[in-house]
Amino acid sequence: MADYKAPLRDMRFVLNEVFDVAKLWAELPALAETVDAETAAAVLEEAGKIIGGTIAPLNRSGDEEGCTWSAAGVKTPAGFIEAYKAYAEGGWVGVGGDPNYGGMGMPKAISAQVEEMVNAANLSFGLYPMLTAGACLAINAHASEELKQKYLPNMYEGRWAGSMCLTEPHAGTDLGLIRTRAEPQADGSYKVTGTKIFITGGEHDLTENIIHLVLAKLPDAPAGSKGISLFLVPKVLVNADGSLGARNAVSCGSIEHKMGIKASATCVMNFDGATGWLVGEVNKGLAAMFTMMNYERLGVGIQGLAAGERSYQSAIEYARERLQSRAPTGPVAQDKAADPIIVHPDVRRMLLTMKALNEGGRAFSTYVAMQLDTAKFSEDASARKRAEELVALLTPVAKAFLTDMGLECCVHGQQVFGGHGYIREWGQEQLVRDVRITQIYEGTNGIQALDLAGRKVVGSGGSYYQHFANEIKAFIASADARLAEFTEPLKAAVTNLDELTAWLLDRAKGNPNEIGAASVEYLQVFGYTAYAYMWALMARAALGKEGEDDFYASKLGTARFYLSRLLPRIHSLSAAVKSGSEPLYLLSAEQF
Ligand SMILES: Cc1cc2nc3c(=O)[nH]c(=O)nc-3n(C[C@H](O)[C@H](O)[C@H](O)COP(=O)(O)OP(=O)(O)OC[C@H]3O[C@@H](n4cnc5c(N)ncnc54)[C@H](O)[C@@H]3O)c2cc1C
Repeated sequence: MADYKAPLRDMRFVLNEVFDVAKLWAELPALAETVDAETAAAVLEEAGKIIGGTIAPLNRSGDEEGCTWSAAGVKTPAGFIEAYKAYAEGGWVGVGGDPNYGGMGMPKAISAQVEEMVNAANLSFGLYPMLTAGACLAINAHASEELKQKYLPNMYEGRWAGSMCLTEPHAGTDLGLIRTRAEPQADGSYKVTGTKIFITGGEHDLTENIIHLVLAKLPDAPAGSKGISLFLVPKVLVNADGSLGARNAVSCGSIEHKMGIKASATCVMNFDGATGWLVGEVNKGLAAMFTMMNYERLGVGIQGLAAGERSYQSAIEYARERLQSRAPTGPVAQDKAADPIIVHPDVRRMLLTMKALNEGGRAFSTYVAMQLDTAKFSEDASARKRAEELVALLTPVAKAFLTDMGLECCVHGQQVFGGHGYIREWGQEQLVRDVRITQIYEGTNGIQALDLAGRKVVGSGGSYYQHFANEIKAFIASADARLAEFTEPLKAAVTNLDELTAWLLDRAKGNPNEIGAASVEYLQVFGYTAYAYMWALMARAALGKEGEDDFYASKLGTARFYLSRLLPRIHSLSAAVKSGSEPLYLLSAEQF
């Protein structure tokens, strides 16, 4: 597989030329002192070096070797301990962390690019710091000052890792069903008892401690999701002076053998009266988890993008070198026995699809990250509210659409390699296996679609949607006439999405099945329309510069490809939405 090269140029283009993100940072007092365009460029370059040089080379060997379980613990593949140490020493685990507790304090728009790099280099590896950063977020937002002081600095430093323990054998999507119990103790702590499954990084040898965030129920808790509380349960208990004490009653019973991300330990975790502390309020555990989930869900979306980018980098190199057949219009490489496959229309279709979806996805994830930064740091209450509502609306789109497109890109990348794409040594088959989980965990993509259509669009009476649609319309209205070839298809797409949203709001009043029936295709129409907005913004930033630099010419060509070849997918998807729920209920359960 081709060496991974962090797409720094494209990241700078998106941050500086498309969004002028430094202007936003300058307006947010908490960020104005910490970051500007130059710092951001330096941070990304440093991240690119360590990730490309240290973490990417472990991707294949990590997949081959996998994690191994023994009663003594879980061993990660060779090289992971050293690479994690180097990554932690660079401060990368705490890149987006709160500086009051030792984090680097970078905005999400920057940490999102670092996440893309680390996951493109090695998706299994990327999960360890990602889960730690997610756990830190929940602790920082909801835990007591004492817990924050005790745990956050070591977690940001990468000496301790984090895990999220939600899922149980009988409770995945429906967390209201969990059975793990927490008994209050006289000293204010709790004894946590239960079994969690599929816990990423539940046990490993990368750090000296692992801080588990566990969902559990108090003895008198109300039934269902309103009775869930969140607890911090360390693997090794921490003494009052911060040193490590006795081992807590937490153990890893086994690890899963799975399709991909084999170097990420997926653990069965047993809590046998383990000592834990409440995070946030009693019975408000799910809400506390949701603070973190908007960040994590964007992070999982970025994993999809990352895999697609890695696959593209390898496919483009192969397509330039692999010689098969002649171009339909006559030989191109006259001195060779055949032409490189990049001349063939179908190979170009696959490569351009990957490029358009990856670059559209990078711009979209950065856009969502900027909304997260505004929601977190703005001192203007109305700007904060608007950004929070946009984050709520766009997070399920980012999680599901970026990962669906990630799988599509990896499959195209594999296809470009022909039979060699199916063979291990080229790496494309690993990407297909690895990326597949991103559509499933952190809430399946079907559940993301339900969240978008039901809770966010119908639940807000369409008002969250209006923020996004109005912004696109204002952009179209203010655009220069030279941009018409990009804004006209965008205008048609947003008109279509307006109609579809009105249709959904109307249908939802009747049959309760309508939202679920419409949701997946509705999310996809939303995703393609959002990417059309991103491509029009990118075209605006590139137009007029195409003579100076091929980078801009390539941007404009890709924008034209996206709008003419990929955006029309919204028509068949919209027709499917409008067929309603009826065709889904023509068969009884027995007739399947
Ligand atoms: C490798 C891996 C790592 C993971 N890491 C973690 C982790 O770190 N921490 C953690 O807590 N969990 C983790 N998980 C668990 C993961 O988040 C769940 O598997 C996922 O949320 C789905 O739950 P489930 O497997 O129980 O499926 P189910 O909930 O049983 O769902 C089965 C199917 O039914 C659909 N479905 C369910 N309810 C509805 C509904 N109301 N409407 C429409 N469709 C519905 C689902 O979309 C899915 O297609 C991990 C899983 C894997 C495989």
